[in-house]
Formats: sequence, C-alpha cells, structure tokens
Amino acid sequence: MKQVGMTIWLTGLSGAGKTTIGSEVVNRLTTQGYKVEFLDGDIVRTKLTKGLGFSKADRDENIRRIGFVSHLLTKHDVIVVVAAISPYLEVRQEVRQLIGNFMEVYINASLDTCEQRDVKGLYKKARAGEITSFTGVTDPYEPPLNPDVECWTDRESIDESVQKVLQKFWDFQNVND
Ligand code: ADP
Repeated sequence: MKQVGMTIWLTGLSGAGKTTIGSEVVNRLTTQGYKVEFLDGDIVRTKLTKGLGFSKADRDENIRRIGFVSHLLTKHDVIVVVAAISPYLEVRQEVRQLIGNFMEVYINASLDTCEQRDVKGLYKKARAGEITSFTGVTDPYEPPLNPDVECWTDRESIDESVQKVLQKFWDFQNVND
C-alpha cells in the first residue's frame, strides 16, 4: 500500500488516554495494511531514553530522542505513533519542525479525571510526596495551543477519539497522495 510517512504525536497528562488511544490507532492502521511503529513513552524510557529522569532538561532530551527516531522513520514512509506526556510546548514545536509531516493530538482529560482513574497509582504517590516532579501535580503541563486533533477523553468514548485521529490521518494521506 502507498503510504506517506508521518508522525502522529499524542501529548497529554498521565492517565489521559495516550497509550489506550495510540495502541488502538496502531491496531486499526495495521489491520488496514499500513506499516506503523508505536513509540510509547513508558517503554521508550526503558530502552532508548533509559537513565533519563524528569527534570526539564531530561524531559526535553527524552522528547528530542523520540523526535529524532520518529524523524528517521517518517522519512522512510513509516507511520509513527508516539504516546508521550511531552509537557513542554517549545520542544514539541522543535520536533514538529524536524519531522515535518507531523500531527499533534492533544489527549485532553481534566486533572481530576486523570487522578480519579489513577491507572498506575502514580497520582496517589505524587500527592503523598513519594514521587517528585509529577506532571500536573508538582510539574508543569503546557497544553498545545493549536493541536491538529483534540480528544476530550473525559466525555468521548475511546472509539470516538480513535475515529477523530484516523479521520485526520486519512485527510492527510489523501492530500499528500
Ligand atoms: P496515558 O497513556 O495517557 O498515561 P492510559 O491510556 O495508560 O493513559 O490510561 C487511560 C485510562 O483511561 C485507561 O484505563 C482507559 O481505559 C481509560 N479511559 C476511559 N475513557 C477513555 C477514553 N475516552 N479514551 C481513552 N482512555 C479512556
């Protein structure tokens, strides 16, 4: 199948739904015959960016490395799906510039919702002071100003959010075909 390389970059708070939506987008596109690579922040941090912490410098370095790999894959016409908190606006802009064919998806859920879900029990630990520099609690999150897609996961179903991402993806593929 003819495909135009691009990176679909999911940003948002921990527990907002990046992994859930990202992996479903990957499954659907793979089923349709696209060649897709998924770079999930939690996994990337155990390999490519192992050893980096959560200071601003380390978070930016984490995003730059993910951005670099995404750039290489995109250049070779792979569809890359990234799920990473990526809290800082400036470095997100930087990787957008580097990659070119870039779609920013804001996985938006209120802090309250994310905290109630507390999928990994991290908010509880952050509130108890057991983890420092936790995005949304003791560390900043700079939302996208003009995302290509915005998914409000506290009021949309997973399927609705996934459809929004796929629709934008198909629009992009058609325009660039
Ligand atoms: P993140 O990768 O952003 O840290 P996860 O995908 O790991 O977030 O967790 C999000 C949680 O929220 C999952 O347990 C998921 O089932 C739940 N959830 C509920 N509604 C939605 C929705 N509309 N979109 C995405 N996730 C949702």
